[in-house]
Amino acid sequence: MFDKILIANRGEIALRILRAAKELGIATVAVHSTADADAMHVKLADESVCIGPPPARDSYLNIPALLSACEITGAEAVHPGYGFLAENARFAEILAEHQIEFIGPKAEHIRLMGDKIEAKRTAKRLNIPCVPGSEGAIYTNEDAQQVAEEIGFPVLVKAASGGGGRGMKVARTADDLPNALATARSEAKAAFGDDAVYLEKYLDKPRHIEVQILGDGHGQAIHLGERDCSLQRRHQKVFEEGPSPALNSSQREEIGEICAAAMRELNYKGVGTIEFLYEDGRFYFIEMNTRIQVEHPVTEMITGFDLVNEQIKIAAGSPLCISQRDVILFGHAIECRINAEHPSSFRPSPGKIDYYHPPGGLGVRVDSAAYAGYTIPPYYDSLVGKLIVHGRTRTEALMRLRRSLDEFIVDGIDTTIPLFRTLVRNADIQNGIYDIHWLEKFLATGGLDIA
Ligand code: ADP
Repeated sequence: MFDKILIANRGEIALRILRAAKELGIATVAVHSTADADAMHVKLADESVCIGPPPARDSYLNIPALLSACEITGAEAVHPGYGFLAENARFAEILAEHQIEFIGPKAEHIRLMGDKIEAKRTAKRLNIPCVPGSEGAIYTNEDAQQVAEEIGFPVLVKAASGGGGRGMKVARTADDLPNALATARSEAKAAFGDDAVYLEKYLDKPRHIEVQILGDGHGQAIHLGERDCSLQRRHQKVFEEGPSPALNSSQREEIGEICAAAMRELNYKGVGTIEFLYEDGRFYFIEMNTRIQVEHPVTEMITGFDLVNEQIKIAAGSPLCISQRDVILFGHAIECRINAEHPSSFRPSPGKIDYYHPPGGLGVRVDSAAYAGYTIPPYYDSLVGKLIVHGRTRTEALMRLRRSLDEFIVDGIDTTIPLFRTLVRNADIQNGIYDIHWLEKFLATGGLDIA
């Protein structure tokens, strides 16, 4: 096992990793930009190193500064969290060249899944069901028209290097297609420096359901059930729950085993998420994330396993110590992503938190690095924290969520807590009847009565 690890991230996930490391008896090194000198992960770590000025490219994405921090402190491994360098295969390779362990998958698997076209090809080869679409990248309008006619309109133009819901455009008819291609290409070029795009059948009313997997790189891999992340705004997840209200246990086992078998075939190492759209009883692979995800606590609450702890042990070379039979789902968990944003306009609201009172009690977990007097800097994402509740049933989880949201106080900035207070009282949410378009429609039709 490692003696010391460096956490190459900030905010709630840096704290989350720090907690897992402490429980394993591993010393922790926090890194921070000058804007984060007062951050909670810095205060709680055994050591900390300032790695640069506020912009992420000069600090949290600054590989030479991170290497120096490892060298100065003698950290043997780096946990990248999510975002920043978590899916940067080159970073994993550079660390290996310096005899530092990357707490994540093999570089080849990060690279493979980072290219969505390659990822889909691989998924197909591994018998994972995919969304119908183009075989590879689409270069001309003529090729696009031909594929679109084969799969049928509407179609979705997607960026091969896409992420964060960017570089995606719907074409409802053949007339829309040239424009959708051009816009997706230029958005992809600007956001990812790569204008390769591909085509997919646009599903009209799917749910987003993703399977959590864990592999040890020694040939073993298991699944830990699914999360339903259908409540989205601008293709970004807002509220996640598990198990999915749309699946029964045999569907759950079937898709879980398909994913676990695929990961055994790949000899995948670490945690990963295989994302699907689910419509009319069928699953369609969209992508795989080769890192810990924001919504991982949902799975932890229903399985009782600490995914970050497992990640660290696997990176240290241990074989998997959980078998598929040990994974017994218990009850229901729901997560709300609480952002420093206005609850209806979603305008970012960085600034000082004057008063902070998180909820507590049975089945309530708050993953946050916020505290009273903390100033949320304007440079990074707007996540203030995640409220996760667990109950024996979905009804109990919802009841607990309503109570916890009413108890949660974050004064001084705008947060999305009022949005969740409305959602938890909505009949569709209570009945679990929603697809990926539900939230946008709800917001557009004035469902949210917040000034
Ligand atoms: P990103 O990597 O940018 O997050 P994904 O491929 O994971 O992109 O898709 C993000 C979201 O976009 C999905 O959860 C879903 O809401 C929507 N989406 C993606 N592909 C399709 C599709 N073929 N049809 C309908 N919606 C889609």
